[in-house]
Amino acid sequence: MNIHEYQSKAILKSYGVAVPNGSPAFTVEEAVEAAKALDSGVIVVKAQIHAGGRGKAGGVKLAHNLDEVREYATELLGKTLITHQTGPDGKKVNRLLIEAGSSIKHEYYLSLVIDRQTARIVMMGSEEGGVEIEKVAAESPEKIFREYIDPAVGLMPFQAKRMAYAMNFPPAAIRQASTLMMKLYNAFVGKDCSQVEINPLVVTAEDDVIALDAKLNFDDSGLYRHPDIEALRDETEEDPKERRAAQADLNYVNLGGDVACMVNGAGLAMATVDILKHYGGNPANFLDVGGDSTPEKIAEAFQIMLDGGQSKGIFVNIFGGINKCDLVAQGIVEAAKIISEDGKTLPVPVVVRLEGTNVERGREILLETPIANVIMAKTMEGGAEQIVKLVQAAAKN
Ligand code: GDP
Ligand code: MG
Repeated sequence: MNIHEYQSKAILKSYGVAVPNGSPAFTVEEAVEAAKALDSGVIVVKAQIHAGGRGKAGGVKLAHNLDEVREYATELLGKTLITHQTGPDGKKVNRLLIEAGSSIKHEYYLSLVIDRQTARIVMMGSEEGGVEIEKVAAESPEKIFREYIDPAVGLMPFQAKRMAYAMNFPPAAIRQASTLMMKLYNAFVGKDCSQVEINPLVVTAEDDVIALDAKLNFDDSGLYRHPDIEALRDETEEDPKERRAAQADLNYVNLGGDVACMVNGAGLAMATVDILKHYGGNPANFLDVGGDSTPEKIAEAFQIMLDGGQSKGIFVNIFGGINKCDLVAQGIVEAAKIISEDGKTLPVPVVVRLEGTNVERGREILLETPIANVIMAKTMEGGAEQIVKLVQAAAKN
């Protein structure tokens, strides 16, 4: 789960990490009031969306008086920002962060993520902050330093010191930088984060070390321990299909393409996305319906896949282990009843590959019921190839 920058900064502040003074604003008036309260020569007006790259896209403005704050707040609120992280549709700005400006001497990059290979939290730092770190990683990877953290002892002070020196902080800022790293690590572990990114972490003209930007991501599986974080969820930032799927207990990720798939088991679902891609298809989603799928759940999955006309074809790939193929087939029939006007016609072609428990009965159900547009496939490969061809043919017409 993602939260906004101002929310991330409030959490970091509670762990003792230095952040600029500021507060969120939902209206132009609130923005001006917040700026007044800051009493600062420079006020930063920052668009709050769940994406980075706002600086380059015009979502971070420096104001020198209250009139400019008003002007920038009016411009940004309601505007759709398109950054390299939002996708082509962009994201609408509904909130601002009004912050006291800082005089920046240098911008650094600092983050904590989980490294799956070593199964440890890794701290990454670079002197080349402020810009896209992906670019630094691609062009000068030697400028990114890493410290792997032993979970038994946590981040050790010597590691934080080593990182601060590697990142080339000025001598007067080394101590502040390394203590900030320790606090950042405490926040990461304390809140069950999956990522903490500070870009830029700055040294000011006064040699203070401040987190000027902050991005916190949380492990969804740990959210039950943090109702305070769950309460920060901003549903307007989330994919409506993913939200609906979560409510139905379906494991769904929108991938933006037009060939949908419904699969049981996360591994098979990933393999299905791969094989659709292999045959030249553009997968619409990852969807694991789980092991206990009832006809109602499958009908809901169909509705989510078809909602908004995104999917031009559906590939059902079920290996019935705990799931029973006849119940899945029943689900498809139920879905057809709900979705179509005549109870028989699904709006897009559906290729079904069933294997495993009660497969004979499952096939019978699908063959007996006169739902148009359902095609039985013998193999996973054959089914994937077929649905991709059908979708491509439909696109040509
Ligand atoms: P992002 O582009 O979405 O990652 O947004 P950031 O919060 O990282 O801001 C982008 C850039 O705006 C930073 O790299 C800074 O150069 C600039 N910026 C942000 N806050 C301040 C500030 O208080 N003073 C000055 N001078 N620049 C700022
Ligand atoms: Mg940034």
